[in-house]
Amino acid sequence: MFFSHISVDEWTISSDEQRELASCDEPTMLFDGRWERVGFSGIVSRPRAGFQFLAGRTICAAPMADTNLMSIPGQVDPVPVARDITPRADGRLDLIGLPKERIRELFEDAGLEPKQAKLRSKQVFHWLYHRGVTDFDAMTDIAKTMRPWLTERFVIGRPEVVEAQHSTDGTRKWLLKTADGHEFEMVFIPDADRGTLCVSSQVGCTLNCRFCHTGTMKLVRNLTPGEIVGQVMLARDALGEWPKGSMAGLDEAEDEGHYSSDGRLLTNIVMMGMGEPLYNFDNVKSALKLVMDGAGLALSKRRITLSTSGVVPAMQRCGEEIGVNLAVSLHAVTKEIRDEIVPLNKKYGIEELLEACAAYPGASNARRITFEYVMLKDKNDSDEHAHELVRLLKQYNLPAKVNLIPFNPWPGAAYETSTPERVRSFSNIVFEGGISAPVRTPRGRDIDAACGQLKTAAEKKSRAQRDREAAEAAEAAGA
Ligand code: SF4
Repeated sequence: MFFSHISVDEWTISSDEQRELASCDEPTMLFDGRWERVGFSGIVSRPRAGFQFLAGRTICAAPMADTNLMSIPGQVDPVPVARDITPRADGRLDLIGLPKERIRELFEDAGLEPKQAKLRSKQVFHWLYHRGVTDFDAMTDIAKTMRPWLTERFVIGRPEVVEAQHSTDGTRKWLLKTADGHEFEMVFIPDADRGTLCVSSQVGCTLNCRFCHTGTMKLVRNLTPGEIVGQVMLARDALGEWPKGSMAGLDEAEDEGHYSSDGRLLTNIVMMGMGEPLYNFDNVKSALKLVMDGAGLALSKRRITLSTSGVVPAMQRCGEEIGVNLAVSLHAVTKEIRDEIVPLNKKYGIEELLEACAAYPGASNARRITFEYVMLKDKNDSDEHAHELVRLLKQYNLPAKVNLIPFNPWPGAAYETSTPERVRSFSNIVFEGGISAPVRTPRGRDIDAACGQLKTAAEKKSRAQRDREAAEAAEAAGA
């Protein structure tokens, strides 16, 4: 059996109940008269008529037939997502997040002749993703009479900017809002030779990594392809990086997607913002395909890195179907410590994870896998840990580099940052083992934009976080 994500729109349950489901660490589902756990520890199966879901209390759900399911093999956590095309309140459809073929279908559905629909979809796609226009009236090679037709039926969306912050080191953080009112964040980190956009894939997260501020939020929902690619487009808006002029004025070469990132501010994308991207596989894939499309945003897959906490069953697919660089949040080299820091380790252990890394399609010495390692004082930062890290990476013959990340504190965090001397010693040992291990300079700490610090104010705490706090309070009371 396999199950993939459940679209909230396909369930006849209230939004409160949906949120409750999303927050469960181990929800239980009734199948054929048997209760089975789903989520971290259990069977995940395709929804069928008449099942019930226990999420603290029993919920009756009636899924509709023919739902569009994500087909990650193996056991994955069910997470609610919005449908890919949700009409706005005025009935218009947002085209952002849709591939050219889907736009063509919509144009045909709206009454255009097939040939017309094909031509118009090609033109509109170019204006949306290559030029970054947000108004059909700016599409100068589309007949003036056609533009009102488009405006009546479609809209070119962007996530709403709630707040934009600038760090003293040049890092920029945006608090964004989806059309249905959920807040999430994205961060732009400028460097001398590159500009990296850190993109979110979910509102909140199910994984509760203990060093991560986002991990204290409950999952609200997956972001749609439009909300993911919309972050890249919004960043280009803010950086003023769209090519100007009309399509008619371009030479063929530019039309064919030679819009390279060289010399531009936004050169790299990392899927390292809020959420676990491989638990939103289909939407992340759709969004990144648009980012990589030579006729659209045209960013090379070599400039895109997807970071996972270790969702092993989806890693192979990620390499085969998306083909971007892989980063893995390793953070520990023993089961005991990784179980604590990255609880997903209880489901997919270090050995299984490293085997999946060794099999990652496209990994080579030219395209090494990045292992993220947050340096936590007296937790995972000893010389022995560094030696074990080298041993493990060599045992699995991994083309690897290690990013050492001094822990970025946040209010209530359970850890402290390792001392600079400790970080240096750790780094030296890994370097001496023949593996690159630079220490990442924290960026944007003053605006809580650094790695592991993202968290929106409007969130609710996850169940695991509530349980943890309650246990800590009880312990303190008993002490
Ligand atoms: S590190 Fe990533 S996967 Fe882990 S809790 Fe934070 S956002 Fe989620």
